[in-house]
Amino acid sequence: MKIEKDTIVTLTLKVADHLGRVIEASKEPMALLVGGYGNTLPAIEAALEGQEKGFATTLDLTPENAFGERDESKVRTLAKKDFPPGVKVGGALELREGESGEFQLYNVVKIKGDTVMLDGNHPLAGMSLKVSFKVISVRAASAEEIAHGHAHGDHGHHH
Ligand SMILES: [Zn+2]
Repeated sequence: MKIEKDTIVTLTLKVADHLGRVIEASKEPMALLVGGYGNTLPAIEAALEGQEKGFATTLDLTPENAFGERDESKVRTLAKKDFPPGVKVGGALELREGESGEFQLYNVVKIKGDTVMLDGNHPLAGMSLKVSFKVISVRAASAEEIAHGHAHGDHGHHH
């Protein structure tokens, strides 16, 4: 079966930086609903399109094709007293952008004295990445999976 919109692709994935140093490697295969549901990067979906079980490749992605360029306006510094107790580096919190803006996820990157430095950029923003993957299986998505916008069952969402 070929990979097309509304198929469930089970794959193993490895993400490395441009020098090939591994950043993230899936321990378990993951199941993705493909077809523009935002379950993976568009560049990965484009590479999968029309392929079949057993397909393996490595993509060299520029930041624009991966997680975008860094936006330094998403780096914010706040007073430690404004935080819930227990805030620490490596944690994350959602902050509203302005009075009525959308919530944005910020990672706590540094705590220095009374200030906390937050970064709303994706941790991989601004990086060129080598993404390697191998397709383990391909099947048609169920109506329920399409309605939910994600894969169910083995290596998918459980609810
Ligand atoms: Zn679901």
